[in-house]
Amino acid sequence: FPVSGDSIRQRFLDFYASRGHKALPSSSLVPDDPTVLLTIAGMLQFKPIFLGQMPRKVPCATTSQKCLRTNDVENVGRTTRHHTFFEMLGNFSFGDYFKKEAIQWAWELSTVEFGLRANRLWVSVYEDDDEAFEIWVKQVGIPIERIIRMGEDDNFWTSGATGPCGPCSEIYYDFHPERGYSNVGKRRFSLEIIFSYLIFLLFGINFQDLGDDTRFIEFYNLVFMQYNKKDDGSLEPLKQKNIDTGLGLERMARILQKVPNNYETDLIYPIIEKASELANVLYHLADDRTKLYLKIIGDHSHAIVYLISDGVFPSNIGRGYVVRRLIRRVVRTGRLLDIKADGRGNPEGAFLPSIAEKAIELSTHIDPDVKARAPRILEELKREELRFVQTLERGEKLLDEMLRACKNENNPVLTGKDAFLLYDTYGFPVEITIEVADEHGISVDMNGFNDEMENQKRQSQAAHNVVKLEVGDRADLAEKIPDTEFLGYDTLSTRAVVES
Ligand code: ATP
Ligand code: MG
Ligand code: MG
Ligand code: MG
Repeated sequence: FPVSGDSIRQRFLDFYASRGHKALPSSSLVPDDPTVLLTIAGMLQFKPIFLGQMPRKVPCATTSQKCLRTNDVENVGRTTRHHTFFEMLGNFSFGDYFKKEAIQWAWELSTVEFGLRANRLWVSVYEDDDEAFEIWVKQVGIPIERIIRMGEDDNFWTSGATGPCGPCSEIYYDFHPERGYSNVGKRRFSLEIIFSYLIFLLFGINFQDLGDDTRFIEFYNLVFMQYNKKDDGSLEPLKQKNIDTGLGLERMARILQKVPNNYETDLIYPIIEKASELANVLYHLADDRTKLYLKIIGDHSHAIVYLISDGVFPSNIGRGYVVRRLIRRVVRTGRLLDIKADGRGNPEGAFLPSIAEKAIELSTHIDPDVKARAPRILEELKREELRFVQTLERGEKLLDEMLRACKNENNPVLTGKDAFLLYDTYGFPVEITIEVADEHGISVDMNGFNDEMENQKRQSQAAHNVVKLEVGDRADLAEKIPDTEFLGYDTLSTRAVVES
């Protein structure tokens, strides 16, 4: 690769260090904060400083932060830009500089340091943030057609239900400027195009679909952190105005390395290569489905290694459940890819350790502790994989009996009840049930299965309070969970049940 991920990280840190920032180490994936489940952004370790609960030690800092976002699990491999584990490069001002400098430096970093062409960059600002708009236009000189005002969902950043927050401004890279300004990707109806063009002529606002990542990729978010969001949702101004930014390392690597998605950068691809080798396929020749599976393995094995290294072991509660689900998804995906051997010639062995070894190899520049903890990580993964395979095999046995009974009764359909029993009690993924049944010429009553599922949901909702463990979720709640509802391996969001 012409520009390695490691060099991008270093250049970012050096850029800000030479502008007075203190380079600090990444904090753990487990935040020192009972209100947050996992570290989802670089600002978490500085939260007490932003809130004025702790004095600042330096006026401004820069980091490369390990992050983990469970809300993006479903996106992994399906978008070109989302991971569960990723590194966020950041520059932070604790009451020191504000919008003007933050915008100016972000622009210089992007166009001079990383050499991105200015006419490929778009920016978004919060809908009523005229100050940021002005800075982009007057100070930086971006044409107004490439500045998009967006609402709270996209351009008001909060780290959770409460805490420091503020309007933000994001920088996007345009892979296809030739597609023009007003007819972007997903827009289907010509009336809509005419309407947005009129709005553009009248008010200078145009509605581009910046979320379409075959054209655009958001890579840098500048948060103008100036409020504290209280329990009742009100915004209290902070004593000082701060800057909190995040630039996705994998996304910048993807742009500079000119590969079609984050997974094919040098930061992740070696893991995919290893998985391909075990699955006996060639990534670049593989069909989309196989590629998706390989990307999931590439992403999740990264996440798993760093989580365990930071002391999160598989369990049925809170953070431990996050890592358990990720492990199960990798094992299950490995089986879909027909990975049988463990990479060391042992057909009965676990394959996860040999893939994790690759992730550990890549970790030295990110987190030197991981390598030292490798033996423990690999042992844990092996145990968890073998245990899960046992569960799968128990399900397979029961399914076999059910299918034999169907055949004996000349019944071509497996009942929804049976499929649900396998899924619910034995944790057996329903897609496997369908696949195996199909091999025996038997179909699965999916309507019946869904009815059972609905039934159970209704019952558990009556008795339980479903808490989603996502960005900004409360770890104190999560950790109190007595046990978790098992949702199967392909239910992607991390959910857990709390007694109400
Ligand atoms: P997106 O809209 O693409 O989901 P975001 O707005 O949720 O991104 P931010 O919360 O603004 O992301 O995080 C700051 C930066 O971190 C992003 O601009 C991006 O470069 C990077 N980033 C965020 N989420 C991910 C992820 N799941 N995988 C990789 N990089 C990410
Ligand atoms: Mg997001
Ligand atoms: Mg965004
Ligand atoms: Mg953003």
